[in-house]
Amino acid sequence: MARSGVAAAILARQEGGQAFVSDAAEAGRLTEQIRRLEKAGIPFETGAHTDKLLMCDYLIVSPGVKLQIDILVQARQAGIPIFSELEFASWFCKGKIAAITGTNGKTTTTALTGELFKAAGVPYRVCGNIGLAFTEVVTEIPSDGVAIVEVSSFQLEAIADFRPHVAVILNITPDHIDRHGSMEAYREAKFRIAENQSATDFLILNNEDPELSKARVKTEARLLWFSTRDNDPSAATFIRSGSLWARHNGREQAIIKGSEIGILGPHNLQNAAAAVAIGTVLNLPAEAMAKALRQFPGVEHRLEKAGTVAGVNFINDSKATNVDSVCVALRSMTSPTYLILGGRDKGAPYAPIIEAGRKVIKGLIVIGESREKIFRELGQSFPTISAETLEEAVARGFEMAHPGETVLLSPGCASFDMFDNFEHRGRVFKQAVASLKNGKSKGETVTR
Ligand code: ADP
Repeated sequence: MARSGVAAAILARQEGGQAFVSDAAEAGRLTEQIRRLEKAGIPFETGAHTDKLLMCDYLIVSPGVKLQIDILVQARQAGIPIFSELEFASWFCKGKIAAITGTNGKTTTTALTGELFKAAGVPYRVCGNIGLAFTEVVTEIPSDGVAIVEVSSFQLEAIADFRPHVAVILNITPDHIDRHGSMEAYREAKFRIAENQSATDFLILNNEDPELSKARVKTEARLLWFSTRDNDPSAATFIRSGSLWARHNGREQAIIKGSEIGILGPHNLQNAAAAVAIGTVLNLPAEAMAKALRQFPGVEHRLEKAGTVAGVNFINDSKATNVDSVCVALRSMTSPTYLILGGRDKGAPYAPIIEAGRKVIKGLIVIGESREKIFRELGQSFPTISAETLEEAVARGFEMAHPGETVLLSPGCASFDMFDNFEHRGRVFKQAVASLKNGKSKGETVTR
């Protein structure tokens, strides 16, 4: 009964079917969902999945539901087909589908691809894992429009006929192995994105990802590669003389200078290359793509530009809740950086930050529960100070940074010691930057 479950039931109802919804959670935790179902006149049960669920032609599962739970085992034994919400939504899509999956970068690439279509004036909807279910928007997509869908491996586990016109796999690194059972099973689930594609469709893979570049893919689609290597000879997108280029049907064209792309870092250059590959096979004009690439500020809380005050740049990377993500952020910095780090510790060592930050970190400002541990592990390597609140950390960063330098929030920790969630933490950071902007110039003492 989460977002996509309710949306799928409403779509089924709209399209003339009968839906029944089941959630194992107690009704008290589902007030909003129940209100929506009652309004739509859709019957449901809560607290447990009962046999009522088996009185159907087929079942649609939400991405969060494991396919191994009892009721689904019983359904399979009874010969009831089980589909993901992605599969179900795709039956009703009149436009083309561009589907994006991978271990990392899905949300950024999906959102950016949406911006390319917006700039080109092509009707589109961005949906899927990104916060808006495919079933919620699918009927709004016209036949000349495009559904740009962020797809998780969980959704791909239960497809039957799902056939994107363009499918992208950004990268495959170990993740969710707990749910899929093995790396092999995880990889297989991702590759299902291409299993129904035909010769008029495109499968776009990352030429720089070892798992993907060596993969033997079973698909009839045209296989294309995206790359950020210099002059990569076999790739649909590549770098030449510092610019991102696209190559399609024998024609090469420069899209944009790398330095003009709004989102930061080598990982985001890959995301941009993937988005441009999609735009290119769907014939978007280069100028429109360049405009969107210049203007896209990134997805909120992921290396998001949070403003410049008196020449000091502020970047909100609140989504970085582990040390790996902090390292990705540091490798993306191009100016001396004061890093705001800390929160609820997750048990991993902070040491990788020493190497990743050696060239760019000018100082650390530590916050939250993990302050002492960070002091112990990094205090010898970088000038380190402590702040009681995030607002204070922003103010201290602003005091220390010179024009042209950066204050980066990339906490590497969970947020729950001081905030509701990472979004809340990111918003507090941005508010603190906004209040600096209101009237403060470099050189004034900031007190709060
Ligand atoms: P997802 O939706 O797959 O979780 P996001 O776009 O939300 O991906 O990015 C989450 C984090 O993943 C980023 O903050 C960054 O640390 C990392 N990341 C993003 N793109 C890539 C990429 N192409 N390769 C490796 N890591 C990436």
